Amino acid sequence: MPSSHTAWPPLSVLVVDDSADTAHSLADLLRLYGHAVRVELDGRRALMSLESDVPDVVFLDIRMPGLDGFQVAESLRARCGGGKQPLVIAVTGAASEADRLRSAGAGFDLHLVKPVDPGVLVGMMERFRRLLAPSIPAADVAAHDTGRGGDDWGGGSKSSQFGCWLTRSE
Ligand SMILES: [Mg+2]
Repeated sequence: MPSSHTAWPPLSVLVVDDSADTAHSLADLLRLYGHAVRVELDGRRALMSLESDVPDVVFLDIRMPGLDGFQVAESLRARCGGGKQPLVIAVTGAASEADRLRSAGAGFDLHLVKPVDPGVLVGMMERFRRLLAPSIPAADVAAHDTGRGGDDWGGGSKSSQFGCWLTRSE
């Protein structure tokens, strides 16, 4: 239940999508689970937002007018340099193997294809929260675990902190 998560430290999240409905739907879901979410509707504004505050997680659409998600991810990785690096997750209709490979090359940690199952998303966020707040007792993590979308994330090939999930097939 969402209310059981409110005592957990929230993650800061930036959602970027040129579809306002898609962006705000995802933001509303994440807020329901206690995360602190801001929304940008184009890539240029997203980069401006990231200059002032780097969140824990960025959900980034790929197909956007102006700067697309690949360009935003590349700029974000370059700008963050040796500082805080967010998890960058593609949420996109771009589903081909070539798209996935390009997103990995652009600096995405994970590539999700729309429509994303809300249960998978919530489970994934709880795992991020566990990884980013390691002081949470393991028993509490297990008690809060949604049990969805979890153990099938392994087996990928990208060697980043969280990138083992990158090549999960839909
Ligand atoms: Mg789009």
